[in-house]
Amino acid sequence: MRSPELLKPWLNSALPWQQSILERLSSLEHQKKLPHAILLTGAKGLGKTQLAASFATGLLCQRAGVEPCGSCTSCQLAGGGAHGDFRWIAPEEGKRAIGVDAIRAAVTFMQQTSGYGSHKVLVIQPAEAMTAAAANALLKTLEEPPGKALLILVSHRPGELPATVRSRCQRYNLPHPSRPVALTWLANQSSCSGPIAEQAYSLAQAQPLTALRLILNEDLATKAALIDALSGLLEGSKTTPEALAGFSGYDLDVILDTALQRVEERIYYAAGEPGSKAHFRQRDKILEWLIANRKGINFGRDVILPELARLLVTEA
Ligand SMILES: [Zn+2]
Repeated sequence: MRSPELLKPWLNSALPWQQSILERLSSLEHQKKLPHAILLTGAKGLGKTQLAASFATGLLCQRAGVEPCGSCTSCQLAGGGAHGDFRWIAPEEGKRAIGVDAIRAAVTFMQQTSGYGSHKVLVIQPAEAMTAAAANALLKTLEEPPGKALLILVSHRPGELPATVRSRCQRYNLPHPSRPVALTWLANQSSCSGPIAEQAYSLAQAQPLTALRLILNEDLATKAALIDALSGLLEGSKTTPEALAGFSGYDLDVILDTALQRVEERIYYAAGEPGSKAHFRQRDKILEWLIANRKGINFGRDVILPELARLLVTEA
């Protein structure tokens, strides 16, 4: 089981713009009307995974509350990825798909009696990564869920899920926070200034979690032009000459290091979309250049930067 490492800091509190959905789900739970299968949808970087983690661990928490207490045995186990009634299914590292074997194992897990007498919770993220065979293997459990089973399917591309799966889930679409709510949250989380929060938020295209990662991982104030150039190449919104202009004024080591972070972010942190083989190739190549540069091997800035631009564009 792969637990959402990145998300642990947020396990104790749902994000401000998720409160209404979280409260609706908790209220259903109190009324014993919680559906057996929930489909959480919404754009990337909104925190669907955090909401799934927060609601799941809250359900298992030994202190009944809307959110997990974070300190009881159950919360500790869940946070460490070791809770016997909680399973998190995601593609294995370096793979894009969730295969039938993982789903069969999860189905077996769901059929076992709960060890703690509470719910058994299975999160599948991203659900659209399931192969056709995997989705088929899940159908029976969706149709006839055992006892206190809860399946949470997380997806930012629900249209790619088989209709048979979609129709058996109750769907909750995560709203975008308003700009002021997102900016206040960003400033609180990172202790950054208002202008930096705004810059990160627009660079991240109004995805608050992506913006937070930008602030935490980068010195945004000094690297904004560089980040903009790299993101532009990766997203196809900048031409190579435009990006090369954005690189000017930065040390080669800083450019390569920042490019590496951008690519690794795509591999490991892109919400609901595991990195492709192309992303791993980009990472390996950049790492090779970075190491060579740090060893003092001089291959020339004028040679390496156009190559970097090509690598990021052609393999994006
Ligand atoms: Zn707890």
